[in-house]
Amino acid sequence: MLSTPATGAAIDVAPTDLLGLEPGDLRAWLAARGEQPFRARQILDGIYRQLAADFEAMTNLPRPLRARLAADATIAGPTLRRELAARDGRTRKVLLALADGRLIEAVLMLYPAGPDGRARASVCISTQAGCAYGCTFCATGQMGFDRHLTAGEIVAQVLYFARELRAQPWTAPDGQALDHVTNVVLMGMGEPLHNYDNVLRAVRILNAPEGLGLGARHITLSTVGLVPGILRLAGEPLQINLAISLHAPTDAMRLRTMPVTRKYPIAAVLEACQTYVARTNRQVTFEYVLLAGENDAPEHARALAALLAPLRQLGHVNLIPVNATAAGYRPPSGEAIRRFRDELRRGGIGNSVRAERGDDIAAACGQLHTREGRTVPLPDSPRRIADASGAALDLVVPMVDPE
Ligand code: SF4
Repeated sequence: MLSTPATGAAIDVAPTDLLGLEPGDLRAWLAARGEQPFRARQILDGIYRQLAADFEAMTNLPRPLRARLAADATIAGPTLRRELAARDGRTRKVLLALADGRLIEAVLMLYPAGPDGRARASVCISTQAGCAYGCTFCATGQMGFDRHLTAGEIVAQVLYFARELRAQPWTAPDGQALDHVTNVVLMGMGEPLHNYDNVLRAVRILNAPEGLGLGARHITLSTVGLVPGILRLAGEPLQINLAISLHAPTDAMRLRTMPVTRKYPIAAVLEACQTYVARTNRQVTFEYVLLAGENDAPEHARALAALLAPLRQLGHVNLIPVNATAAGYRPPSGEAIRRFRDELRRGGIGNSVRAERGDDIAAACGQLHTREGRTVPLPDSPRRIADASGAALDLVVPMVDPE
């Protein structure tokens, strides 16, 4: 609470969300309040090491400072509205309510040790409430755009699961206990590059040694291909992973499901990817949802291989068999997937097939929100979700870890 110099009348000022401040900004914020610089280090330690959910829990701070912080600032983050755990016990999806009541989703995916011997806890987070890009296969795309998330609201989703894992570590099949988030994927509700400034601020906070300290190579940003955003990202001093939602080998095919293609044709997106690779030295992943009878034929694979030939050594295709059937989409047969992969390999394009995660809890972005927002009861088959008119929505892109 502040008062005006002229009248002394109290004016309400929204508390500052400290989760949205980079370490330097926090130091400046504290300095403006007459606090010593070392307090910033203590507060960051409280937020990102102790994983404190409120200032009262930061017992390394004197009580009067905790009281001042509680009056002027917040680290509360969104509140849990609903949680679903997949039967496999490795995927947990939460619907979170922001301070203004808007709902967003975040997903925790747990992976047993891979070739590097390390188990992983990957968090998929949202960057917007709703989305402006209207991809036909996406539940969030059917909602339309509502608003950008703040950097603090983005960071808070990761902290939510970081606290959960700290309180209850996951025991991987090989006996490893995992008590922290290892990877972050910006692939939930919203288009991250449409909310560039807040997203990048959040990424810097997650990456900062005084923040969550997550390596840039453990952070993946997935985009439908906003060319100016990709080029801007290429100039950042950050080596995060870039994933492109491609899903079709030609503009004509892609336009059927992704209206953004009209503004940014595939050729322009790939050119921007080449710039990204050249400047960051990072590979680009191309996400390709396989829809039986739509984009899974060998000729589509050949067209995709030809399309990506200039990025042969620098790109990787992540094939994702579609996980829902509500609007007539079906996953391809194992044989069709094998043929598709063979064609890509023949064209020199590295590829992998990602297992679906959390299919039984509707892990694709926007699905849980759609249910909650329309108060539609959970169906027996969680693949099908009815919209307000009772028609089935097609909600098909599974949350996957692109690594
Ligand atoms: S897939 Fe991504 S960009 Fe497309 S509508 Fe959904 S959230 Fe938006």
